[in-house]
Amino acid sequence: MCPMEKALRIVIATRNKNKLAELKRILADVPVRLEGLDEHPGCPEVEETGETFVENACLKASQVAKCAGLHAIADDSGLEVDALGGAPGVFSARYAGPGANDRKNMEKLLHELEGVPAGKRTARFRAVIALAAPDGHIIETFQGRAEGTIGFRPEGENGFGYDPLFYPLGHESTFAQMGPARKDAMSHRGEALRLLKQFLMSKIPSLLKL
Ligand code: IMP
Repeated sequence: MCPMEKALRIVIATRNKNKLAELKRILADVPVRLEGLDEHPGCPEVEETGETFVENACLKASQVAKCAGLHAIADDSGLEVDALGGAPGVFSARYAGPGANDRKNMEKLLHELEGVPAGKRTARFRAVIALAAPDGHIIETFQGRAEGTIGFRPEGENGFGYDPLFYPLGHESTFAQMGPARKDAMSHRGEALRLLKQFLMSKIPSLLKL
């Protein structure tokens, strides 16, 4: 970028340090200035009150963009298990109820799937990223998904959330048994982020005018 050129500033609507680091890593070669919510302490934590990943991502991106007066991106993601009618879905982070954490959420999932045979444990991770303009309107959403199956016991130490239970389609190791680069290459969030990156690369000049 020419030093005189104005950089597009984008606020990432998350206080989750892992997500912030992941976004910064994947968007490293896009000429934008990514700012965390820490740099915008006046912006509130937005509640995920939507019924879909799209609604939640849009809600967060829009409110943070308006509050900061800058472009903003927000993501929402989760796991859909076919044998459970799509649960835990938008409730993935809070599946085990108050005090939920990754271990308790996985225990609950395994409990709910007791007696469900290997062939019926199909599932997918979904991720939606929304990009909002400074006035809060949604410019675009980007979606990714990773199909797979739920195992019978946690395997692997990497990653977070339901990674130790999730076998991506065609693989015999869970996401938690893979390194971050291998997971990024096939994950729902990786796919959504690559679409966002392509969009930003081609649209930065027009976004600077918004
Ligand atoms: P949120 O997007 O911060 O609302 O959280 C979504 C929840 O879905 C996380 O807390 C995890 O439980 C689950 N989740 C989303 N993406 C992943 C993933 O890549 N691996 C494992 N669990 C995930």
